[in-house]
Amino acid sequence: MSHIDDLKSFTPAKAFFVGIDSDGCAFDTMEIKQKECFIPNTCNYWELQAVSTMARQAGEFVNLYSQWRGINRFPALVMTLDLLADRPEALERGYKLPEIAPLRDWIGRETALSNTTLKKEVAGTNDPLLTQTLRWSEAVNETVGKVVRNVPPFPYVRQCLETLQAQADVIVVSATPCDALVREWAEHDIARYARMICGQEMGSKKEHLQHCAGGKYAPDHVLMIGDAPGDMKAAKANNCLFFPINPGKEAQSWQRFLEEGIVRFYAGTFRGAYEEELVKEFMDLLPSVPPWKSPRKCC
Ligand SMILES: [Mg+2]
Repeated sequence: MSHIDDLKSFTPAKAFFVGIDSDGCAFDTMEIKQKECFIPNTCNYWELQAVSTMARQAGEFVNLYSQWRGINRFPALVMTLDLLADRPEALERGYKLPEIAPLRDWIGRETALSNTTLKKEVAGTNDPLLTQTLRWSEAVNETVGKVVRNVPPFPYVRQCLETLQAQADVIVVSATPCDALVREWAEHDIARYARMICGQEMGSKKEHLQHCAGGKYAPDHVLMIGDAPGDMKAAKANNCLFFPINPGKEAQSWQRFLEEGIVRFYAGTFRGAYEEELVKEFMDLLPSVPPWKSPRKCC
């Protein structure tokens, strides 16, 4: 059975549907994963030792503190390497953009970017650059497995999940590998609140929402909760409502969802001015220009 068939087999049990992103949204795992797992492996596997400070800045900007926050690891890697190539100080230190055309091509044509699909591509092509990418990605997973533990859900997440159970089908909508997701949700005893845990092997977030919820619920009965613009995009592509978890203000966001968002969602007063106000606050927190390229702030 394909991953799409798995998603399509989802049947509504409640009148409402809520998709929840995991990293940086339900769990405070974005910081530790990026800073302790992704970036050190990126420096190591892509030979960025000489420009490690700038590589760290680029990795943090792309993955945590910009409108690209939360994008899939493979395009994020390309963007990080491209940002370095666009930085004169990195070039001065001898940085040279690797020949990543095969990676760009693969990203362009593959719809489920994951280690599983990359492994197949490597087996079929023997491409050295893709092999290097796979080694990097597997090393990241290994480091995540070793380093990331005891990171609880953000405050108010559990209460929200409990409150939602009465009227909503909840699923996890994530670009993280499935085994890591299941481990994290089970470790904190919240896996039981999710009817399905969808990770990167099961397609994109847009596909998760489209095939699990599309055409199965009444209009405005489907909501996505996320901490990244990509989550919002996936929601909007499916005409779902979106509740943002603001980076750096996650607990306040979940409290707001508990006290206000859920009520509005059920009452049919979420879409419109309320949602627009939430989205504006959210987008204001995520710039598109890196800090090293921004005009210096006047003192
Ligand atoms: Mg996220």
